[in-house]
Amino acid sequence: MSNSPLVKYTKLSPNCTKPRNHAIDTITIHCMAGNCTIETCGEIFAPTSRQASSNYGVGTDGRVGLYVDEANRSWCTSSGANDHRAVTIEVANDENKEPWHVSDKALAATIELVADICKRNGIKKLLWQGDKNLVGQVDKQNMTVHRWFAAKSCPGDYLYSKHGYIADEVNKRLGITPPAPTGTPITGKAIVTAETLAAFLLSKNAAPQLNGVDALGLAKLYISEGDIEGIRGDVAFCQSCVETGYWKFGNDVKAAQNNFAGIGATGGGVAGAVFPTAQIGVRAQIQHLKAYANKDALKQPTVDPRFALVTRGVAPNWENLGGRWAADTTYGAKILAVYDAVKAFKTPAPVTPPPAAFKSYTVKITASVLNYRSGAGTNFKINGTVKKGEVYTIVEEANGEGAKKWGQLKSKAGWISLDYTAKA
Ligand SMILES: [Zn+2]
Repeated sequence: MSNSPLVKYTKLSPNCTKPRNHAIDTITIHCMAGNCTIETCGEIFAPTSRQASSNYGVGTDGRVGLYVDEANRSWCTSSGANDHRAVTIEVANDENKEPWHVSDKALAATIELVADICKRNGIKKLLWQGDKNLVGQVDKQNMTVHRWFAAKSCPGDYLYSKHGYIADEVNKRLGITPPAPTGTPITGKAIVTAETLAAFLLSKNAAPQLNGVDALGLAKLYISEGDIEGIRGDVAFCQSCVETGYWKFGNDVKAAQNNFAGIGATGGGVAGAVFPTAQIGVRAQIQHLKAYANKDALKQPTVDPRFALVTRGVAPNWENLGGRWAADTTYGAKILAVYDAVKAFKTPAPVTPPPAAFKSYTVKITASVLNYRSGAGTNFKINGTVKKGEVYTIVEEANGEGAKKWGQLKSKAGWISLDYTAKA
């Protein structure tokens, strides 16, 4: 087993298990939680009291250090099973807090290093799904992160968010051309109207938990904010239906946060970002979508606190958001399933109130003799006659020839001219 020719500095640590007991088939990228040079990192791993190490380190300057030969197991990821099969890499941070940012040089050097490790160890393709449940299933996912094995944020939100990008870049170097993106673009103009979106939402949840807007007002925000940035606001609305459970909430994010897309809610009870109004919440979501969808500049001031964490344009289609926006690889499909339901949704026709039921009344005949006819008009045939002073109940009125108004006798024997009657 060889080591990487990219190494610029070597200080082998005693903190390791010799040899590793499993072939290398996994990559685990860590963050140092500090801005150590590769030399300092070597010093940190040198004392046996430290009980920690990594195979490699990458400095903010992009230089690579070696601390544990690839042939041996580093003590890095709080998991012997992981570290026996993984090459571990500690990357320096150029900012000293979450999201534990790393320099562009460090990121680029990490990509080159990982590509080299894959080539020398026969890893044909780097696979990342952001799914802890796939640990050990290297045919589905052969990158792991420290946070899955211990209560740590390592590798930090920044590097974690870059894992899909790192995999894509490494795979290019391994000669794998990414499949042409196919799917439903996030960039574009809304097709479904705000009215339909609102009616759809109310059909799923008659009492959505909203702040300062009603369902229609909310839907209009998605359309208008989406149009400003050239993002599909109608589908973004569907994304929020998935995220909020049709504005019932009930998970880590609460209704009062105006956070309709789980921005910053990274799981495990983390509530995520809070926005002052529904409009700013929608705007942040649209901006976050734009970060993924394309490389165009924002038209409005940035309100998405995580905009800079996204590799611009890495996910042009809704289908590409799985494993990125959310760990769930079927995330995009779930959004589009709601969108399909919206498109199939028939806005219920406005209910026209039924005509007020006719109230029958009684009349007294004022003509000495009055014909009653088979219909409301003198053009209908005479069925018989009624006489002055008799009282009849009228059950329906109608217009017709020969009288201002015709009335139907309760007996249904026929219609009389109401001109020759008085209300009884
Ligand atoms: Zn770590």
